[in-house]
Amino acid sequence: PRTAAASPSTADTHCPYCALQCAMTLTPDPDVSAPVRVEGRMFPTNRGGLCKKGWTSAALLASPERLTTPLIREDGVLRPAGWDEALGRIVSSLRAIRQEDGPDAVAVFGGGGLTNEKAYLLGKFARLALGTSRIDYNGRFCMSSAAAAGNRAFGIDRGLPFPVSDLDDADTILLLGSNVAATMPPLLAHLAGARAAGGLIVVDPRRSQTAELTADGAGTHLQPAPGTDLVLLLGLTHVVLADGLADGDYLAARTTGADVLRRSVAPWWPERVQAATGVPVAALRETAHRLARGRGTYILTGRGVEQHVDGTDTATAAINLALVLGLPGRPGSGYGTLTGQGNGQGGREHGQKSDQLPGYRKIADPADRAAVAAVWGVDPDSLPGPGVPAVQLLGMLGRPEGVRALLVHGANVVISGPDAEAVRSGLGALDLLVVCDFVLSETAALADVVLPVTQWAEEEGTLTTLEGRIIRRRRALVPPAGVRSELEILADLAARLDAPSQWPTDPALVFAELARASAGGIADYSGLSHAQLDAQLDDGVAAHWPYPAGSEGTPRLFLERFAHPDGRARLVPVQPRDRDPDPLEEAPFERAMPGEGAPAVLTLITGRLLEHYQSGAQTRLVAELAEAQPRARAELHPATAARLGIADGDPVTVRNRRGRVVADALLTERIRLDTVFLPFHFADAECANLLTAAETDPISGMPEFKRTTVVVAAGRRR
Ligand code: SF4
Repeated sequence: PRTAAASPSTADTHCPYCALQCAMTLTPDPDVSAPVRVEGRMFPTNRGGLCKKGWTSAALLASPERLTTPLIREDGVLRPAGWDEALGRIVSSLRAIRQEDGPDAVAVFGGGGLTNEKAYLLGKFARLALGTSRIDYNGRFCMSSAAAAGNRAFGIDRGLPFPVSDLDDADTILLLGSNVAATMPPLLAHLAGARAAGGLIVVDPRRSQTAELTADGAGTHLQPAPGTDLVLLLGLTHVVLADGLADGDYLAARTTGADVLRRSVAPWWPERVQAATGVPVAALRETAHRLARGRGTYILTGRGVEQHVDGTDTATAAINLALVLGLPGRPGSGYGTLTGQGNGQGGREHGQKSDQLPGYRKIADPADRAAVAAVWGVDPDSLPGPGVPAVQLLGMLGRPEGVRALLVHGANVVISGPDAEAVRSGLGALDLLVVCDFVLSETAALADVVLPVTQWAEEEGTLTTLEGRIIRRRRALVPPAGVRSELEILADLAARLDAPSQWPTDPALVFAELARASAGGIADYSGLSHAQLDAQLDDGVAAHWPYPAGSEGTPRLFLERFAHPDGRARLVPVQPRDRDPDPLEEAPFERAMPGEGAPAVLTLITGRLLEHYQSGAQTRLVAELAEAQPRARAELHPATAARLGIADGDPVTVRNRRGRVVADALLTERIRLDTVFLPFHFADAECANLLTAAETDPISGMPEFKRTTVVVAAGRRR
């Protein structure tokens, strides 16, 4: 167990988990089990509120599971090692692999929870110190579809192009595929106005905790069949256009493509949409009319509609609907996507995406390459080109001409990646797996070298909220002896690899370099510094990017123009695609297996619980959260369960040819008769991603997490 040394004063900082980045004050307190006391702090996103993940976030700082020394695998077992030995082993392996097979035999996998400074330095390290094009991150599993749709329609990707607090005055909010009551509860306060006006419309195949908030006249719950959100959106747009509800002046002045869009939605008349989605014609019409007559109307998407192989097109269809109604850029209305991971927004702006450089610049663009190379002091031609998205990168592990060494920062890919057993097998085929983490996650447990790193309360930095607001993370505790920050690790490795350029380790200096590298880019931070965020901007309250030098930031985008050169938004016609049958999900496996009851073929939806965050590597170690949700439970409708002879709490097998999950049954009428829900926070036989496919959206690289064919049967007790 660590003994944390306290700093002399309290620290105003933010929660380590989701993208709402609730503000909190940490007070060192050696008398409690957690070394700091957590209090919610007033801030525009959370107004003093925290969810139970935030309230308990300090417990991990004192966890006995905390790593405080590097580990090296020897004779198949991880043993403690010194930093010099661990870094030396990494560098000698990397040199040998690069010499034998070239720089692309080494890959880097980052995370959407890394601070802006870490994400920036990781991208620089991959391109300059390793010379590899193969870098991507776990945000590919999270925000990639919405990001691609935003770039396509608006020419820019900022999750919410307006402050969260703008939602307060809305009377109509269409929330598609987001269970905010479980994922970011303080956001609910911003939906209260729409609920009071009877205008909260939740689209979710499950009657989630958020969908239940539409009861008693507060709004409407639309419950489409899994994977039919795109059709539902085409139907809503059809009704808006057919019933004369579109904003014609807005379409003429601010968009291109209205005529093509009108033709593309013409075949999606309400009765056809009802047949495909199960959403009644009357509900479809009422929703379209409600959106059109709202005084303040917002359309918001989440992972439920984005984590599909047609996720980019589905998010595009939501944007099309918003544009036809004239919402984006109209004060008091708009479209946005609710980013999930803590730095999901900033993490995709500063160079850890396979196709991007800092400032959301494109690595294939000569001008962008030259601008960043000038800051780094290198020849633009020395920078590698675009790499490949995360799922393809994971598919290259250990393959001929593929990846022989992988450095993982802030990700637990063996739980969060689709087709988890294939990911595990790929990791096992590597010559070198290095994982930086502060606990021995399931991925770290497979590593050749594990490097222990600082936690959020022990470090300085910045993150960018779901609304593009840059905020400060501040240190309340001195890190335990033996751990280092990722910035120190990357700088040390860069020096040992004789990398060009400068490698600062002070987060304020890294931010200053990031700001210079972003100048003139889409996500321009060049007018900001740590000192300015601390002193002049009252903890970043007003610091929304783009924030070029001399500006005062940009809380609201699109008021005058969109980011395409002509200033207009693009209406992009989209249609559902026929999905090739997946041979690993086909029927022969439907037969009963020994020891199981009668099987049924259902659709698996994966998602999150209030108590856990992402792969659960952190929250499963927090006693209060683990006691509340100790294991995965498979949600089944009672009628489906009765047909299969399954009672509440019984073991259930959920399987296809990729894998098998065993979980306890949770019978609930929240779920459709034809679906089963599994949370994706758990490991081993409860890992939901043993079942999901590595099939991806051709535009964004997003895997299919929300529609997997599975066989469900009464299972054997573990
Ligand atoms: Fe806020 Fe998200 Fe942290 Fe909960 S997990 S306290 S909603 S930032």
